[in-house]
Amino acid sequence: MTLLYDERLDGEIASVDKSTLMAAIHAEAPALTLLAREEDLRPFECDGLSAYRTLPMLVALPATLEEVMALMRVCHAQRVPVVTRGAGTGLSGGALPLAKGVLLVMSRFNRILELDPDARLARVQPGVRNLAISEAAGPHGLYYAPDPSSQIACSIGGNVAENAGGVHCLKYGLTVHNVLSVEIVTIEGERMTLGSEALDAPGFDLLALFTGSEGMLGVITEVTVKLLPKPQVAKVLMASFDNVERAGKAVGDIIAAGCIPGGLEMMDNLAIRAAEDFVHAGYPVEAEAILLCELDGVEADVHADCERVRELLERAGASEIRLARDDAERQLFWAGRKAAFPAVGRMSPDYYCMDGTIPRRELPRVLKGINELSATYGLRVANVFHAGDGNLHPLILFDANRPGELETAETIGAKILELCVEVGGTITGEHGVGREKLNQMCTQFAADELTQFHAVKFAFDEHRLLNPGKNIPTLARCAEFGAMHVHHGELPHPELPRF
Ligand SMILES: Cc1cc2nc3c(=O)[nH]c(=O)nc-3n(C[C@H](O)[C@H](O)[C@H](O)COP(=O)(O)OP(=O)(O)OC[C@H]3O[C@@H](n4cnc5c(N)ncnc54)[C@H](O)[C@@H]3O)c2cc1C
Repeated sequence: MTLLYDERLDGEIASVDKSTLMAAIHAEAPALTLLAREEDLRPFECDGLSAYRTLPMLVALPATLEEVMALMRVCHAQRVPVVTRGAGTGLSGGALPLAKGVLLVMSRFNRILELDPDARLARVQPGVRNLAISEAAGPHGLYYAPDPSSQIACSIGGNVAENAGGVHCLKYGLTVHNVLSVEIVTIEGERMTLGSEALDAPGFDLLALFTGSEGMLGVITEVTVKLLPKPQVAKVLMASFDNVERAGKAVGDIIAAGCIPGGLEMMDNLAIRAAEDFVHAGYPVEAEAILLCELDGVEADVHADCERVRELLERAGASEIRLARDDAERQLFWAGRKAAFPAVGRMSPDYYCMDGTIPRRELPRVLKGINELSATYGLRVANVFHAGDGNLHPLILFDANRPGELETAETIGAKILELCVEVGGTITGEHGVGREKLNQMCTQFAADELTQFHAVKFAFDEHRLLNPGKNIPTLARCAEFGAMHVHHGELPHPELPRF
């Protein structure tokens, strides 16, 4: 594992020392809080991917837009890289600091600026927690649909930067489909608005480009999101299977039948046991897999959909199907799913969470492949994921104190991602590329495509100061990694449809 940051990716960095930089920043923004002592920097050394750690040179905690703009002007002039951080829950090392850089922490931008129930939108600062938006909109019968499992903690700015997904995204779309506009500050310290309150905005769709750009194109300083009416009725079916692959096939059957559930999640036996032990959600601990299928809408439709899905699940070989008795039981079923990551964390000193996406029809094959990898390498893998989206989250259990186990976990993870690409999928569903999946980007994309990504980055940030060394690998890195499988200019697996 390459724990050290590859300094060659730092772009054109002038070596400015800490006190000179602090003086320059305070000359432009005297009230801006800067942290510089080691003990103050330590809490920011990693995000949710704690295997990678670096102390930043400085942490900046701006409270106003003017402070962000001033900071960017100074860093641009001094050629100091800037990594923006929201709540630090990211799982791909996207907010991993740079030793020669400033970590710009947006946690003080935590106000809901406007909530307009008639226009069904909310204008919020980027540090507002995802769940806080739905809590504020709740009294108006509205909510913000994308619901990452980390929604209690993660920030909307981080969600936009990662194009976050969640249980409801199968039916209601990812972050990119639920954001109307963002205000950003460029690396030169200029303010721009991308998108509009209307459904479309003139010019190129820079909002879509910016969503999921992992802090590499600008700093998000405001977000306007769509609010949706809460569905009148929501019911959840829990189906047990004695075979994981059969459960995987049932997922494809439901969508193929034209039914789009409000959520369609899957957990395998290890994840079921972990969650049950932690949350006591009433899960069948003997089942090899369960599917949680939520159907929402108006009463008559939901009733009919439940019957239809029940029939499909029976035909797919479910051994037991339970409809949550009431809303309390429905919430309990979901509580188990939402707490599944920390629940698995109680079973093993460490786990490594992968995030790949595959066409749904390939679920049985890929789940079988994951089981085989687990057996071959001797590490347990728990699967808990957004099955309806084909978005896998294998959690590879290991003990970092045992020599070689971390490397084995990484090998399994890399092989799972390669399997995803092989069946026509992608190396990330929602957690982003960050620092973690740079090498897999070499497997997924050809040199020409990576060159185009670099060109887009250059258009926003010619000196590569914003979050350098993340998301887009250099061609030299891919050559060294040896994973650029380009044959006569063809993409890897050209026979497969891309999505
Ligand atoms: C238990 C657990 C469950 C999770 N479940 C899900 C899930 O279901 N779905 C999902 O999508 N993710 C999930 N995640 C991952 C994570 O929560 C999301 O990626 C989330 O969007 C990150 O938000 P954050 O505020 O923590 O961002 P951070 O981790 O702080 O940053 C993430 C990236 O966004 C950039 N960034 C942050 N704020 C800004 C800003 N204001 N301007 C520009 N760039 C910015 C950073 O530079 C970094 O590249 C989970 C994480 C955990 C720990």
